[in-house]
Amino acid sequence: MDPQHHNLQEISSEINTRYFEGKLSLKVQWHGSKASMPRTQIKLGSYSQKTEVIRINRLLDREVVPKYFVEFIVYHEMLHHVLPPIISKNKRRKVHHPAFLKHEKNFHDYGLAKKFLEEVKEGWLTKPRLSRSLARLLKKWGL
Ligand SMILES: [Zn+2]
Repeated sequence: MDPQHHNLQEISSEINTRYFEGKLSLKVQWHGSKASMPRTQIKLGSYSQKTEVIRINRLLDREVVPKYFVEFIVYHEMLHHVLPPIISKNKRRKVHHPAFLKHEKNFHDYGLAKKFLEEVKEGWLTKPRLSRSLARLLKKWGL
């Protein structure tokens, strides 16, 4: 197995304690391999209500990904357990409904995490010249 940059079990336990009074007993695990780079969309995390398993994309298990970002994805998936999808008036299933989004903002590094998410969406995570774009990023944020 590859060496891990982020200790997922430790992060999950911290988030569980900090935001959920340690009450959650969900399984949290890495998913996918670093070698297989998806070309288009990447799913960073997922939660299955049926199995109560949270899966975090292994692409995030690297030095250049800040810990708060992994924490944020874990927090987001845990929120899916606590705040399940609702059916709106027009009979649509809403996963990220207003109550969910409101709670999501409680995350301690919400602003930073959202910024980082935007960068991830722009695709740097799946690009080979990772270090260069990251250097640019950190400069931009003054970190
Ligand atoms: Zn979600």
